[in-house]
Amino acid sequence: MDDCLFCKIIAGEIPSQKVYEDEKTFAFLDINPVNHGHTLVVPKKHSENIYDIEESDWIAVMKTTKMLAPKIKEAVEADGINIEMNNDTAAGQIVFHTHVHIVPRIDDDGFRHWPGTPYKDRGAEEIAEKIRKLL
Ligand code: 5GP
Ligand code: ZN
Repeated sequence: MDDCLFCKIIAGEIPSQKVYEDEKTFAFLDINPVNHGHTLVVPKKHSENIYDIEESDWIAVMKTTKMLAPKIKEAVEADGINIEMNNDTAAGQIVFHTHVHIVPRIDDDGFRHWPGTPYKDRGAEEIAEKIRKLL
């Protein structure tokens, strides 16, 4: 894709701190890390996000993520790792080239998990049924 930031990074047209690449995937440090070692794993073939990525590319991204997560944790001496992905603007996606965030976490880094609220009445049953019907 001509106008895609991450396609340009993969092509080397925009510099990045690459940590890994293989036939299908590319991984590089996020320019604005939550914690040091924050890494983005992307497919080399352009797709926008979870909806249009080909299954084989998604599997490759997951394999690279699994391989890298413990290495990043060790390299930056993190206490934990969040694996995260934003899809659509509403979910915080800014760059529309599929990417998975590997975010090292430190015991006292102060970041909080998003809040949860229990379902009321038959809420959970109804939502689960709506999802099952679409499968
Ligand atoms: P999103 O919100 O789309 O899931 O995340 C996009 C991520 O890309 C952000 O965390 C942002 O810091 C990172 N990013 C944006 N532009 C650049 C860039 O030019 N180089 C690198 N390495 N990361 C970038
Ligand atoms: Zn792209």
